[in-house]
Amino acid sequence: MCIFCKIVNNEIPSNKLLENDDFIAFHDLYPKAPVHVLVIPKVHVECFQDVQAEMMGKMTTFIQEVATLIGIDKSGYRLITNNGEDGGQEVKHLHFHLLGGAKLPFEHLTDETHKNL
Ligand code: AMP
Repeated sequence: MCIFCKIVNNEIPSNKLLENDDFIAFHDLYPKAPVHVLVIPKVHVECFQDVQAEMMGKMTTFIQEVATLIGIDKSGYRLITNNGEDGGQEVKHLHFHLLGGAKLPFEHLTDETHKNL
């Protein structure tokens, strides 16, 4: 069972912010911004490439609710999903990184990075 399925099943602890029948939002263990929340479906979907449009529709609404709950809906945020090997996905359970709480730099993906790829 993957690590995020264990969080869904309460087999390992997480710092949960919001939960409904389909999704959970919890704080990332190693935050990369003042606010760094992960949003996952409870059902195991490996990555964005595998997700059905119907689930994404519901997940969009849930992510918007999380952003409002933590007060970054107006100030802004970055929403990221890493997909597969080249995308740098480490945990093979679909998740969106919701990052905010400060003006975020583009540390990794700059024009310079692009030229060097
Ligand atoms: P990714 O590289 O897109 O697969 O991101 C995986 C994220 O999961 C990383 O930001 C990790 O810090 C985070 N992470 C891994 N294990 C846990 C955990 N048990 N609780 C919260 N966040 C976790």
